[in-house]
Amino acid sequence: MRDHVQRARQYLAGNGVDALLLVKAENRRYVTGFTGSAGIALVTEGAALLAVDFRYYEQAAAQAASCEILRGGADLPGALAAAVRAHELRRIGFEAEFMPYAQVERLREKLSPVELVPLGDVDRVRWAKDDEEVAAIQRAAEISDAGFAHILTVLRPGTTERSAAVEFETYMRRAGADRLSFDLVFASGPRSALPHGRATDRVLEAGDFVTLDFGPVWEGYTSDCTRTVVLGQPDDRQREIYALVLEAQRRAIGAVRGGASSRAVDAAARGVIEAAGYGEAFGHGLGHGIGLEIHEGPSLSPRLDVPLEPGMVVTIEPGVYLPGWGGVRIEDDVVVTAEGCRVLTRAPKELIVLPA
Ligand code: ZN
Ligand code: ZN
Repeated sequence: MRDHVQRARQYLAGNGVDALLLVKAENRRYVTGFTGSAGIALVTEGAALLAVDFRYYEQAAAQAASCEILRGGADLPGALAAAVRAHELRRIGFEAEFMPYAQVERLREKLSPVELVPLGDVDRVRWAKDDEEVAAIQRAAEISDAGFAHILTVLRPGTTERSAAVEFETYMRRAGADRLSFDLVFASGPRSALPHGRATDRVLEAGDFVTLDFGPVWEGYTSDCTRTVVLGQPDDRQREIYALVLEAQRRAIGAVRGGASSRAVDAAARGVIEAAGYGEAFGHGLGHGIGLEIHEGPSLSPRLDVPLEPGMVVTIEPGVYLPGWGGVRIEDDVVVTAEGCRVLTRAPKELIVLPA
């Protein structure tokens, strides 16, 4: 946690403020270790403070041992005001992308004459992970690998999407997942053309593609994996589309390394799919950062160009979606290293043909 506070301090120094105020749960947890659902963290050059209400006095003291805990009762901004005066703070940065306008106004009033400075990219502090964070994501990925191996024994013609999805989720929870970071994507047959289709009462049939996207969480950190399997022998088109997406995914993984541009990694996959004539059927970005959030920076897409740094953990998830027919997506999580990357999700990627 000390390193995380250091990162927050580098950030505030680089943004011309003398403190950083954090209310977004993931940011607050990142710098303090506190996992409760409400509270305000304040990082200054010399201190880390955490204001919480009655419900969290004990939890905050236990989890955020390196912070000065402010017992705020029902008035957290009021509790903060005294500390802000004591620390003689003048300019405090806040999460402009996250804080509701009314909350900013309330703080402005309570903390006056302090200047509140909107900062648009506070989450960036969390983009590059330390070893402990990577280990947590790795553990989450292991749960997802085990869950996938299990669900292969459940996916058969006659089963409904919904019952298989419940079985999948339950298995991962029993294997140690805190929770799933999003509702399972479970899309079979023609529905596999829906990039984010949720489980329905559809009954699986021979010949179906089944796309599963799942993100078990371990100690707050999420993994994010997608696999597409087929029930019974695939036809030529299914083999062709699957091989294309897999080739695109491998190319992109091969392009990841410290210093590589996020846009270039996206282009490595997109180029393969476009060359085959399916560019229009790959309508989303190649990937996104994961960590305490399921979607964080950096994103890998044609729209953004940032250099990848060692320690960043990103997903690589090209897909081809053909309405009325079906779709394929293959997603892995990789941690960026100086020379390349390490793949954290290890579920098999050759097309899996299940009995039908
Ligand atoms: Zn996913
Ligand atoms: Zn994803």
